[in-house]
Amino acid sequence: MPQYRLGHLERVAEIEERVSQHPGMFLIGCAYRGVGISDCIHEGELVADRVMEYLNSRPSESGTREHLDQKTPRNKY
Ligand SMILES: Cc1cc2nc3c(=O)[nH]c(=O)nc-3n(C[C@H](O)[C@H](O)[C@H](O)COP(=O)(O)OP(=O)(O)OC[C@H]3O[C@@H](n4cnc5c(N)ncnc54)[C@H](O)[C@@H]3O)c2cc1C
Repeated sequence: MPQYRLGHLERVAEIEERVSQHPGMFLIGCAYRGVGISDCIHEGELVADRVMEYLNSRPSESGTREHLDQKTPRNKY
């Protein structure tokens, strides 16, 4: 398995701080918080929830958000 360089978590924190200044932009993948498949799945679920929160915070074109008012389904991994 590959390993991150020393200081990785600090770099990720800085990247996430910069990305937070761009609402609607989300980063995901093995480059950030774990290369194992289970890490990637866990992060995917967390980011999917954040995407849903972001989408639910915005009015839709039809004026309703009902189609988005649900949590991301969880798998059994
Ligand atoms: C040979 C090998 C063996 C491994 N064995 C294990 C193991 O036994 N256990 C374990 O826990 N981990 C293992 N890993 C690590 C783990 O598989 C990866 O870290 C993990 O799958 C990465 O997930 P990811 O979603 O970040 O990236 P990926 O799984 O690479 O997914 C990225 C996806 O994005 C797609 N994509 C790329 N560019 C674009 C684009 N421009 N537009 C649309 N789609 C795009 C790609 O086609 C791909 O489907 C292994 C990795 C490798 C390479």
